[in-house]
Amino acid sequence: MNAKVETLRSLEEFDHILRDIETEDYQAVGFQSVKASDEFIKTAEREREKLTKKVDPKLLAMYERIMKRYGGRVVVQVIREFCGGCYVKLPSELAARCRTDLVSCPNCGRFLYYVK
Ligand SMILES: [Zn+2]
Repeated sequence: MNAKVETLRSLEEFDHILRDIETEDYQAVGFQSVKASDEFIKTAEREREKLTKKVDPKLLAMYERIMKRYGGRVVVQVIREFCGGCYVKLPSELAARCRTDLVSCPNCGRFLYYVK
């Protein structure tokens, strides 16, 4: 997987972790007795911060925009030649490029990755 895609995926995971911690649903699903410690939250925030410094500012802005618009699922899997975020069929050439390059879906703008 493209290194940039990997970084963005990791960033998205941090965002989900930090958001989930706050929700009641998360606390209700078997985590009543295990409250995320302040130490964990601080660590996760620090690691997220470090990660954002590795991302090109333009790319980071794109990421934040997509996260804001869709509330998650910023980096999505290509399923055959379909975007896993908005389900449109991608041009074959673009779908092929997802294997090696950082590519955005022309319809929804999400970042695409391909798993064999
Ligand atoms: Zn899409």
